[in-house]
Amino acid sequence: MSESSPDKKSDRAVRGWSRVLSLWHLCGNAACIRARACRGNIRACGPRTFALLPPGVQDWFACLLEAKDEGLSFDEALQRIDETPAAQAFAEWNAAVAASGGEQPRDRRHDRRCD
Ligand SMILES: [Zn+2]
Repeated sequence: MSESSPDKKSDRAVRGWSRVLSLWHLCGNAACIRARACRGNIRACGPRTFALLPPGVQDWFACLLEAKDEGLSFDEALQRIDETPAAQAFAEWNAAVAASGGEQPRDRRHDRRCD
């Protein structure tokens, strides 16, 4: 399999979103948390941790995908989302992740590892 195979590309995309959404913050894998990025199997880790995100942050991501489907650029999409409650939820999520210093929120901690 070459570096540019569709599988690798989509893995990279999911890893990118994992960073944008701070999914590593919800991962049970200590290596992911230390790296502040998913270090395990992103295909297992991505969907699992995404489901643990606050609903508003999931909405934020859904809005972004919707805007992308409509042909908007990333910046245009963000501008549009800025006018929705999802932007607030995303900002609060980022603040919570920053305030945690990388520690997982206790109520969302789970035992399963991503690999
Ligand atoms: Zn992980």
